[in-house]
Parts: sequence; structure tokens; C-alpha cells
Amino acid sequence: MWLLLLTVIAILAWFIGRITKGDTPHTSRKKDFSRDYLVGLNYLLSEQPDKAVDTFIKLLEVDSETVETHLALGHLFRKRGEVERAIRIHQNLIARPQLTKRQRTQATLALGQDYLGAGVLDRAERLLLDVAESGDFLAEALRLLLDIYQQEKEWEKAIDVAEKLQNVSNQSMHVAIAQYNCELAVETKRQFGAEQAQRYLKRALVIDKNCVRASLLQSEWEIELGDYKQAIKSLKRVVEQDPAFIPEVIKPMGLCYEKLGQGDEYILFLKKCLVDAPCLSVVLALSEAILQNQGIAAATEFVAEQLYTRPSLYGLHRLIELQKQLSEGSAKYNLQLLHNVTQQITTQKPVYRCEHCGYAGKVLHWLCPGCHRWMATKPIQGLEGQ
Ligand SMILES: [Zn+2]
Repeated sequence: MWLLLLTVIAILAWFIGRITKGDTPHTSRKKDFSRDYLVGLNYLLSEQPDKAVDTFIKLLEVDSETVETHLALGHLFRKRGEVERAIRIHQNLIARPQLTKRQRTQATLALGQDYLGAGVLDRAERLLLDVAESGDFLAEALRLLLDIYQQEKEWEKAIDVAEKLQNVSNQSMHVAIAQYNCELAVETKRQFGAEQAQRYLKRALVIDKNCVRASLLQSEWEIELGDYKQAIKSLKRVVEQDPAFIPEVIKPMGLCYEKLGQGDEYILFLKKCLVDAPCLSVVLALSEAILQNQGIAAATEFVAEQLYTRPSLYGLHRLIELQKQLSEGSAKYNLQLLHNVTQQITTQKPVYRCEHCGYAGKVLHWLCPGCHRWMATKPIQGLEGQ
């Protein structure tokens, strides 16, 4: 409704502008024009969009100065999800011989957006490639093409377009380009094996030295090959790249040290994390180590201490679990009840959240499903975090 009102205001402002500029319709042709415009507006306001579209299309025959208004109207319909109407308006615009080259390119760009919105990606791609070739609206066309190639998982094309966009707009695309290389790495490994896929991970790390995903993939593949020493190096790199991803590192790190028979090294690693970038995953992993080495009382004391400085729902859940094993009788029964409650609450909680749009879930998405940003989703920290 807001968009509708804004567009109507824009149309009225434009119309009043024409009148105040002295461009008052003196001739009968212009009188028809102003009358038709008001009829079109009336249809829009009375929510008869098809009749409004017909009226505005008829107007274009009279005066090509209405191009901007038609583009605004097409944009409005697309935003409202009425893509077919938007397509009609934009196709009609493109067919007008009186349009300038730039106006036709702008209408083609808009039509490309319509088809993209309708999910007709091949047609959208062809139109947007035409726009990109024309030289006008290049950055806009490249951004939309990038969207298409991401949806189609055409990563080589996405890299090509992102590099061009970087040159045209001065907008840094290195995070996305590194992610495209990670996507290519995953795909190549699936088809041809890890050896051939490695080069994409290396390229990702050259393009974006903080590409956590490339380091995590490397560690995963090294563990598969039984190269635990190298995997530890890759996992330590993740901690340096972005400590927010420590929760992703703990489990594979524990496995690597266990396979190498270096349990003490693992505890040293956890203790270092607790000092440098404390998070609950580290507390829980350390509590498990203390439980095995020093017993349940020491582990309980450690978790309770940590909860004082870093209150946390998952930490409380763990504390109740440990305390329950130290209790008897009705205290044990009550702790079991409490444990059931915290269990239910933690099960419902998301594990990852996008720092940009707030999209949250239990799966780590490198491309946020909410705002379509790469590397914006991270493990949740703090009171409700891991
Ligand atoms: Zn997001």
C-alpha cells in the first residue's frame, strides 16, 4: 500500500510540475492527456490495476516524456508481486520507437528484473547481457547477472561477473569471489576428488585470506586423508581468521589430537581459546576434559565458575546435568525436571545467526538465505549462544 501511495504521489508531483512549468495543456491533445492521466490514477486508486495499466500504456502513444512514470509504475507492480503487469508495461515501453537509446536500455534492465523476479532466469540473463553490452546501467546489470549465476550455481560465470563489477563499481567483491571458489572446490571434489579441488581452496585463500570456509574445508579433507597434523594447522588458521567460528573448530580439533595421542595439547589449545576468545563451546569442551581427568566435582566447579563470568543457557544446562549426578533423593529429582526444561529450551534455539539481517537457524549457511550475503552468518555467542 505504501508503494502504491508513493507512486501516486510521484505521478501527481510530476503532473503538477508540468502545469507549474507553464507546460499547461492548451491544445485538445494535451487536455486529453491530462484527462487520461487522471483516469489512470483513478483506476489505480480504486484498485483496478489492469484498467490503470491500459490507460497508462495508451498515454505513452501520446507523450514519450512519461517514460519515467511508466518505469515507476512497472517497478511498483513488480514490488507488489504483480510481475505480469510489470512485464506488459516494460515490453510496451521497449516497443516505442521514440525512446532514446538510454531509455530503451533502462526499460530492458527493468524487464530483466521482472523476469528475474518471475524466476524465468534464462530470459532475464539474455536481457541483462544486452544491457551490460550497451554500456549504460552496467553496474546494475552486473549485480542482477550475479544474482542469476548464484541462483543457477554457475560459479565460473559468477567469478567473471563479480570481477567486472569490482572494476566498474569499486565495490570490493573479494569475499564473494573466494566463496565462489569454495563452491567450485566442493563441486570439483565431488566429481574428480580432493586433489583436483585443492587449487580452488588455495585460490580462495589468496583472494580472501580470512576465508574461514576454505580453511574448514581444507581441515575436513585433511582429516579424511588421515593428515591430522596438517588439519590442526588449518583449524588453528580458522581461529586466527575469525574467532567467532571457534565452535566449528572444537570437535574436529579434539578428533585430530586424539588420533595423534596428544590429549594434553588439545587441553592447552582449549585453555588458550578460553583466554583469547572465550565462548561456551570451549567451556563445554574443557568441562568434558576435566570430567575425564579430574572427576565430576572438579568439572562441576569449573562450569559454575565460568557461568559467573559468562552467563549462558547452554552452560546452565550443562551445570544442571553435572550437578544432578552429584545429588540424591528429591534434589536429584528436581534437577532432572530442570534439566528437562533447559533441554527443551536449548533444542528450540537457533545455533547460527546472520549479522546483517538476523536470519537464524540450526544450519550454517555461507550465503544467507535472508539477505543473500556471503559469510554474514556465524555461530551465536552470548547468553543464548554455544
Ligand atoms: Zn542475512
